[in-house]
Amino acid sequence: MSKKPPLADYNAKRDFSRSPEPAGRPGPARPSGPRFFCVQKHLASHLHYDFRLEHNGVLLSWAVPKGPSLDPGTKRLAMHVEDHPLDYGTFEGVIPEGYGAGIVMLWDRGTWEPEVPDVDAALARGDLKMRLEGFKLKGSWVLVRTPRDGGRSWLLIKHRDAWSSPELDIAEFAPLSVKSEGDFADILAQDRPEIWLSNRPARGGEAGAMLEKIVARALELRAGREKVPAAKPAKERAAARAKPPARKAARKVSAARAPSSRGSKSTPRRPARTPAPRSRKPR
Ligand code: MN
Repeated sequence: MSKKPPLADYNAKRDFSRSPEPAGRPGPARPSGPRFFCVQKHLASHLHYDFRLEHNGVLLSWAVPKGPSLDPGTKRLAMHVEDHPLDYGTFEGVIPEGYGAGIVMLWDRGTWEPEVPDVDAALARGDLKMRLEGFKLKGSWVLVRTPRDGGRSWLLIKHRDAWSSPELDIAEFAPLSVKSEGDFADILAQDRPEIWLSNRPARGGEAGAMLEKIVARALELRAGREKVPAAKPAKERAAARAKPPARKAARKVSAARAPSSRGSKSTPRRPARTPAPRSRKPR
């Protein structure tokens, strides 16, 4: 969508000696059939959801501040941002400093297919209809460009179908990673939460408050993990195995049960926020 070499903007914004993000090289272009898509939940200076579609060897990317909505009546602002490398699609982790500093969670992934014959023409027109087959997002969607912000502002809208739902808040219902099954604190605890005791990427506002809690929780998780003895008694391990982990169950629910608008106006199930067992095997 630009005349520069592929991923030039992506690479220019990042110092790969300081960021764990993958360096950008375009991959092979797949002319037809299902392509990769993902949504990364990104807590940086603000919380947002990065919606990415594989096209011509890169991931076309939009930052969606409020995240996707399953309600066809709710149009979500989606700011077109620089293309990302295909490798970025499975990235989850901590960007300690610099551009996008914060925590990235792989919130959804799957495949997409255009519902139009020519993706480039649809992008040029500013109206891309597509089908998503993710764990959380499914069915027919559209990205529509608006005249605002020099054409950078698009809207992400769910089409009415078996996978739309006017009442289910998918971000609340299925908040966790499809890669690690963790939340932001879990992801940070795998890294070095202490780096953000000072100099956090977000200080003020909602994101700052959120990050402060996440850092505290990640430090607790780390401290707990370090205290956990290397080998639990066999009995305890067996008991832990027998108990279905709440988080895993929640993810299965979000993956398997499509929120459907067919038939009854069923109230959405309890959001998948059941606190998961915090004692995990140390890795
Ligand atoms: Mn982002």
